[in-house]
Amino acid sequence: MLKVVKVRLYPDAHQQQSLAQAFGCCRWLWNYCLNLMNQTYKETGKGLSGYAVKKIIPQLKKEYEWLTSTYSQCLQQVCLNLGVAFNNFFEKRAKYPRFKSKHGKQSIQYPQNVKVTDNYLGLPKIGDISAIIHRTIEGKIKTVTISKNCSNQYFAAILFDNGQEKPELSADGKAIGIDLGLTHFAVTSDGSKFDNSRILNKHEKNLKLKQQQLSRKQKGSSNRVKSRNKVARVHRKITNCREDFLHKLSRRIVNENQVIVVENLNVKGMMQNHKLAKAIQQVGWGMFCTMLKYKAEMEGKVYQEVDRFFPSSKTCHVCLNQVDSLPLDVRFWACENCHTKHDRDVNAAINLRDEGLRILTCQSPQRGEPPQGAGSSGTGDKACRPDVSRSKGGRKKSTTALSVGQEAYCGSFASL
Ligand SMILES: [Zn+2]
Repeated sequence: MLKVVKVRLYPDAHQQQSLAQAFGCCRWLWNYCLNLMNQTYKETGKGLSGYAVKKIIPQLKKEYEWLTSTYSQCLQQVCLNLGVAFNNFFEKRAKYPRFKSKHGKQSIQYPQNVKVTDNYLGLPKIGDISAIIHRTIEGKIKTVTISKNCSNQYFAAILFDNGQEKPELSADGKAIGIDLGLTHFAVTSDGSKFDNSRILNKHEKNLKLKQQQLSRKQKGSSNRVKSRNKVARVHRKITNCREDFLHKLSRRIVNENQVIVVENLNVKGMMQNHKLAKAIQQVGWGMFCTMLKYKAEMEGKVYQEVDRFFPSSKTCHVCLNQVDSLPLDVRFWACENCHTKHDRDVNAAINLRDEGLRILTCQSPQRGEPPQGAGSSGTGDKACRPDVSRSKGGRKKSTTALSVGQEAYCGSFASL
């Protein structure tokens, strides 16, 4: 199983200098090759592959002697990564590759030959950089990516294969549905609500203050540089706080449950609403779902997404009666049919859980069989979707016929 550990590096002044040089060479090569690819396409109508541009490195080294100061495999990796970037673009996973800037985050990648010991990282041509290795790294080290952020902190992301097989997925156990929202970051089907806005609001004020101070500094002055670093520090603090919260919450949810169901949110579409765009960008739903997914997969647990058009909020989870409209400001409502009083978000989370379990039963009709394609969304899985018309007063058949995780379902239901 492949794993990544990100460790902090503390290079000395000389090593910082060599790293800066390596960052520069790789960035220059990326931009040179990207430009070359663009030009070739314009002139001949044909693109160049990553392997093709890799072959011109020796020639470039003769022309630009300073390129030889950087480890050759880092340079080769730049070309290969550029090829991957183009592939991602052609397969519609990413935008067109962009030129790299000398401002902002910098990085280089070592495909092999990095030594990891207890308290340092040995890099070819740069030497042993002291590091804090806070996790055991056992197995074959694959690639090591060295990066530097805006506030001059250095990190190494170490990818390694620990030689163990991925655990098989099993959906037997407790299931949970999670409704992600803006009023509360996450509401689970067992009725817990999680929030992180308070910590972030505190830093928000600080950020505003530091940004005002920056705006008053004269352009090009050294005080402006100092002030800009202060703004970067606050941004970093906010990012760290958010990531810490997301990591802890996702770890807790994965530890306590076997099946995790979330809504497949259309974040890009929601960002079009300018009033909500900032809030949506800040909460980090996407990052949270990614964390849930990989943490679940590592432990053989099931991560399931539910189609975003599934009416999770508007359906009563007791009788499955669906109301026509439920404005966003209505936090509590009572079902007209069975007169159950609902908390809007908890009700939605329970519906998500039930729907997720239903999708899983469709995917693996036999109990005990690992669900096929679990982790992918149920979107477009037309054969799986039931008629949305639900008979009044009765539970939808597909939900009562649950076999996977039924005990969990009943168990958590009884505790409500
Ligand atoms: Zn009802």
